[in-house]
Amino acid sequence: MYAFLSDLEGVWVPEVWINVAKKTGIEDLKLTTRDIQDYDVLMNHRIKILKEHNLTLKDIQNVIATIEPLEGAKEMLDWVRSVAQIHIVSDTFVEFADPLMNQLGRPSLFCNNLTVSPENMVTGYNLRQKDQKREVVKAFKTMQYQVVAFGDSYNDISMLKEADAGILFRPPQNVMDDFPQFPVVTTYDELKKLLLQYI
Ligand SMILES: [Mg+2]
Repeated sequence: MYAFLSDLEGVWVPEVWINVAKKTGIEDLKLTTRDIQDYDVLMNHRIKILKEHNLTLKDIQNVIATIEPLEGAKEMLDWVRSVAQIHIVSDTFVEFADPLMNQLGRPSLFCNNLTVSPENMVTGYNLRQKDQKREVVKAFKTMQYQVVAFGDSYNDISMLKEADAGILFRPPQNVMDDFPQFPVVTTYDELKKLLLQYI
């Protein structure tokens, strides 16, 4: 029996931090792991910027609530959920994902979480588990599932490699070049055709 595991940002919804940066006009929040490779340094930088601008979690959630899923995402996800089991595995935070999950019909999600002060300021973050994307695939395998995983970027590669089948969805060129072993799809229709092989 197959279980589908997918990434969130870049597959079903736009990049959250980039959109928060655009909508708040805070340029510094545009930095990603491409600019600062150490995730801990990057996150602590973001938390510092939020504090400097006195942005509460609620403020950020209000911004995120104005972000819409990618075009066709809800319909595609509804289709997948009508024929198979899918779980989203993301490096985002449950508090950030929530407004987007509402718009997607609340699919199953594994992700990290934030530490929030009584004043509703973000003061830290907690990884649910180290190398979560790979570990979730391994866990599903121990439950006797075969896993088909899809994602768009470098942080998905350990998940795609660990899975029985990995698919790149709308990846940047450098990811495609570095990992030519994975099939690439650029539309939900193409993805649907590939997934149908496992249903
Ligand atoms: Mg992604």
